[in-house]
Amino acid sequence: MAASGKIASFRLPPLPTVGELIKLYSLRAEKQLSQNFLLDLRLTDKLVRQAGNLNNAHVCEVGPGPGGLTRSILNAGATDLLVVEKDSRFIPGLKLLSEAAPGRLRIVHGDILTYRMDRGFPGSICQPWEEDPPNLHIIGNLPFSVSTPLIISWLENIANRTGPFAYGRTQLTLTFQKEVAQRLTASTKSKQRSRLSIMAQYLCTVHHCFTIPGKAFVPKPKVDVGVVHFTPLVQPHIQQPFKLVEKIVRNIFQFRRKHCHRGIGMLFPEARRDAFTEELMCKADVEPTMRPIELTIPHIKALADVYAEMCAREPLLLGYDFREELRLKHLDKQRATLKAVPRGT
Ligand code: SAM
Repeated sequence: MAASGKIASFRLPPLPTVGELIKLYSLRAEKQLSQNFLLDLRLTDKLVRQAGNLNNAHVCEVGPGPGGLTRSILNAGATDLLVVEKDSRFIPGLKLLSEAAPGRLRIVHGDILTYRMDRGFPGSICQPWEEDPPNLHIIGNLPFSVSTPLIISWLENIANRTGPFAYGRTQLTLTFQKEVAQRLTASTKSKQRSRLSIMAQYLCTVHHCFTIPGKAFVPKPKVDVGVVHFTPLVQPHIQQPFKLVEKIVRNIFQFRRKHCHRGIGMLFPEARRDAFTEELMCKADVEPTMRPIELTIPHIKALADVYAEMCAREPLLLGYDFREELRLKHLDKQRATLKAVPRGT
């Protein structure tokens, strides 16, 4: 790994432009892999600046593709950049970049959804959770097709301090479709408030940095793109298991236009739904007629704490899924109808 030094000494030597590389290796964008390239190095530099100081940093870049953002990360002074790319067509171009930045760029041909980032960096960079974030950043112009499952899985990792967060409070700077970026950062009562807003904001400080117009990408996507920065909180606002919080929030927001008791009721078996819902809302001191978008994180925390107590008292509650109850009811009905039909008809 390169020794510390002035940022200027990190700058890459002259290389073919990203556009030239795309032509050289005939890199047509694949729709299936959500490929929209950022070729304007001023924009990739701006995106990378949102991550903070990358001098001597370790960075994981998701989906480097033809390497525009990769160049900006290297130029910002990262000394250990690990890129994870699924599409083998980009590997030769990335190898060229790696030769231009000796010892600073590691290339993984793989899928970010299964890549074990907890094994990708030296243990020496670990920082205690309560202290400053480690000198490790995740940066990516994410493929739209994986951005939501990926951030949900990383939020779960944050809650459990696993994966990239085994090193401490690793910061993320990522792109999303503008609507998703708005949902991630939406405040209480805003139109975009959703499951994603609560899940992200109970675990992280989330900041919508800027919007990149769709026309800046090649090929141009139908939507604009938001750059979002996440810093995991030292103390999550809700201290219950991620899956339990996720279950409550999913149930609440499935009826986003109704009063919140409607979705909350679906946490409970039909036979005891009314009584359990009343108990939960009462003990959590949440007004049943509030709309899901009006609920603050302290409201969700109160609901999660009381629901966890109820699950401890009635262990079958945690695994209860109203869809499964509906499915079984439907099956019973079908069986009863079959029985009712006289034989031979
Ligand atoms: N970073 C490049 C840029 O900004 O121009 C490319 C961005 S493009 C939106 C998304 C990239 O992610 C593509 O290179 C695509 O092949 C890659 N990709 C898609 N799914 C992936 C996955 N599951 N794991 C790793 N890379 C993936």
